[in-house]
Amino acid sequence: MNVSDSELMLGKLAAEGYTPVDSPEGADVVLVNTCAIRENAEQRVIGRLGEMRRHVGKDTILGVTGCMAQRLGPRLLESDTRVSLVVGPDAYRSLPHLIEAARKGERFAATDFDLEEHYEDFQARRFDGVKAWIPVQRGCDYRCTYCIVPYTRGPERSRRLDDVVRETREIVEQGLTEVVLLGQTVNSYTDGTHDFADLLRAVGAVDGIRRVRFTSPHPNDFSERVIAAMAEVETVCEHVHLPMQSGSSRTLKRMLRRYTREEYLACAAALRAAVPRLGLTTDIIVGFPGETDEDFEETLSAVREVAFDDAFLFKFSMREGTPATRLPAELLVPEAVVDERFDRLLETVRGIAREKNLRRLGERMEVLIEKEARKGGDMLQARSRDFKTVIVPGDATMIGTYLTVELTGTTGSTFSGTPVSVRAPLPVA
Ligand code: SAH
Ligand code: SF4
Repeated sequence: MNVSDSELMLGKLAAEGYTPVDSPEGADVVLVNTCAIRENAEQRVIGRLGEMRRHVGKDTILGVTGCMAQRLGPRLLESDTRVSLVVGPDAYRSLPHLIEAARKGERFAATDFDLEEHYEDFQARRFDGVKAWIPVQRGCDYRCTYCIVPYTRGPERSRRLDDVVRETREIVEQGLTEVVLLGQTVNSYTDGTHDFADLLRAVGAVDGIRRVRFTSPHPNDFSERVIAAMAEVETVCEHVHLPMQSGSSRTLKRMLRRYTREEYLACAAALRAAVPRLGLTTDIIVGFPGETDEDFEETLSAVREVAFDDAFLFKFSMREGTPATRLPAELLVPEAVVDERFDRLLETVRGIAREKNLRRLGERMEVLIEKEARKGGDMLQARSRDFKTVIVPGDATMIGTYLTVELTGTTGSTFSGTPVSVRAPLPVA
């Protein structure tokens, strides 16, 4: 969502005549787009701002945008005198105007929510030449007790289906074939007339689109209609990132996730039944206040039961103003316990992924080449429809193309693949 917001801001500023530069040294304006989801995300922002202060000229306008800007507002102007604008997620429209004001020496915090704001007239400047992020919903109406998002991104609202389809067509015209629909609970999408099932069908039917993904869905919003659309629309990829957060119903209740362990497992099972070869990944929080050894064991067993393909693990981080701050202090899980649980969970997740991946060696699949592999050496990084990373040989001219590969090796988490030419099977003599 933040990358997508950066693309919108860059598009707006480009329309106003600004051009991007490669380093802060030559910039007239530096905006640090921020996340507030965990304490360490904010620590990194503070580090980055310090770095920027050292590199930019004295006339450079320094601004903070995004969720941390929304959360701290004018407090950021007070704590960092070098910052002259603070702009929350619903106020990017005011950027050009605020930059002009900053040039005259003024300092502003723009943090009002705007429930109509979808930046429809902004032309996103996309960073990625292969897949396009499309925000379809902003804000969140859930109130998970640990989470800062409802306070930094405001109430949930969806774009009109026609607008999303129009943007998808423009993306195809720019030569991209994969889209990722974004929202905090993206499958609760509704524009008053259409639900997420309609959206999947409409976007999936756009000429030239070969892959449709979405993130993040909420288990409670997987209606039968949505699951049917996933199963029936060929361009919708066989992958769901389904945040679980915990495998203990007791913990889930205190997180206000609004589902039980059993309901989560049933949702995962329903998705798997409807979509063969579905890749399932998740988010899990370790050490939510009050999490006992027993609760944690339930998370471990749920992870084994679902056999996730991958999981993002997070240590619980207390966020100012969230309901979790009102839980009794004695419920806090000691750091050493959190660390130990985190390591154990990570080992479990990796072990399961490794086992599943080893079983897939020899399989053939279609991948989309995304970029050069990190280790270089004429290797490229590609993605399967079910979200596996596959490293294949080739050169940069192949980025953005599709290839059929055979999985020949695995590190346990990623695969190496060899391109194969697909021929019709030989007739049996
Ligand atoms: N809207 C998405 C989540 C967005 S935040 C959803 O509901 O699934 C991405 C992930 O960050 C969450 O899934 C959660 O695992 C993690 N997270 C959010 N708040 C957190 C906190 N206070 N401490 C630790 N992890 C947190
Ligand atoms: Fe946060 Fe919960 Fe909303 Fe996700 S659904 S953004 S975790 S409040």
